[in-house]
Amino acid sequence: MSRFWSKRARGLEPYVPGEQPRERRFIKLNTNENPYPPSPRALAAIREAAGEDLRLYPDPLCTVLREAVAETYRVKPEQVFAGNGSDEVLAFAFAAFFPSAGEGEAGAARPVLFPDITYSFYPVYAGLWDIPFRTVPLTGDFSVNAEDYLYPAGGVIFPNPNAPTGRALALRDILSVAGYQGKAGRVVIVDEAYGAFGGESAVPHIGEFPNLLTVHTLSKAASLAGLRVGFAIGREELIRGLSRIRDSFNSYTLDRLALAGAAAAVSDGAHYDEINRKVIATRERVSGRLRELGFEVIPSAANFIFIRHPRLSGAEVFAALRERGILVRRFDTPRIRDYLRVSMGTDKDMDEFLEFMEAVSKKAPKGNAEGAGDEGYCGRGI
Ligand code: PMP
Repeated sequence: MSRFWSKRARGLEPYVPGEQPRERRFIKLNTNENPYPPSPRALAAIREAAGEDLRLYPDPLCTVLREAVAETYRVKPEQVFAGNGSDEVLAFAFAAFFPSAGEGEAGAARPVLFPDITYSFYPVYAGLWDIPFRTVPLTGDFSVNAEDYLYPAGGVIFPNPNAPTGRALALRDILSVAGYQGKAGRVVIVDEAYGAFGGESAVPHIGEFPNLLTVHTLSKAASLAGLRVGFAIGREELIRGLSRIRDSFNSYTLDRLALAGAAAAVSDGAHYDEINRKVIATRERVSGRLRELGFEVIPSAANFIFIRHPRLSGAEVFAALRERGILVRRFDTPRIRDYLRVSMGTDKDMDEFLEFMEAVSKKAPKGNAEGAGDEGYCGRGI
């Protein structure tokens, strides 16, 4: 705390991103980056944009990128909003559509709903904008039960597939939530950060549901986490709402290199189909092998898996992996502290991971799988 901080700054509980190690080479399976290179066309476009024109501001309307997204997703450019990573798009969306405490309109003051186990930035955005929220427990097998969201609320947000579980939600369930919340004039945001790896996109339905906004990123499927580009697709009035927030904050959130690279990437479906088919195949192979080794693996439609050994502590497996030079992600929160989220690397990376996990599983105490759980594992040094 500092006496120079505003009340707002003092009240925040900032998000803590996954580690980006600098001191040592790790097999990096902790932040859901893509292990394969981005589109060569995107890299060429970035190089070409790195010229004298950098003395000029970029296009604040992000026209080339929005046109490329519109063509790929079969929507209009006016139905696309681009931002500096989907984190920024999400932050703007919370501000644009979810009521803050004390707002007087109908339906306002009601909390926004999202799952108890989900992307941990959502409560942070809610805190930043003073938006009341309520978390809805996932079911016992970590599914989203759509009926829990047919409930008067300030709005709804969830990722599909969900993170960090990787589980996908059926499109008909998403649309039923959108229909219900739409009648009350509330917005439903579907964060499709991992949509390219499985699950059904809600984008084709934005025409029917004026309250439905989908959010996308180039950080995962497009292998461009370092470029920081995300976008949202929804009806024009939602896009205009996002632009109002952006233009009250920073009109040039995307630089010239990002705009050029992202537009080229979005148009290079062939490259990405190829690399992401590999990521999906690796996910299925690794999931199968881990199950054979006695791990519980939540069925994943994403580029990561969420796993637990019934008789080993998540903290210990995490530490052992780190020691071995393999970074994964662990969330020290109730229900999931014994789980690890493992991003898919190259097949070679994953073979090293599997080899180590085989050794780890052999050291697990024998016995009944049940009785492990939130706190109840029987930890042994591994
Ligand atoms: N949504 C979800 C569900 C995520 O896991 C992430 C990645 N941390 C993001 C959004 C943000 O991605 P980016 O800001 O890199 O576009």
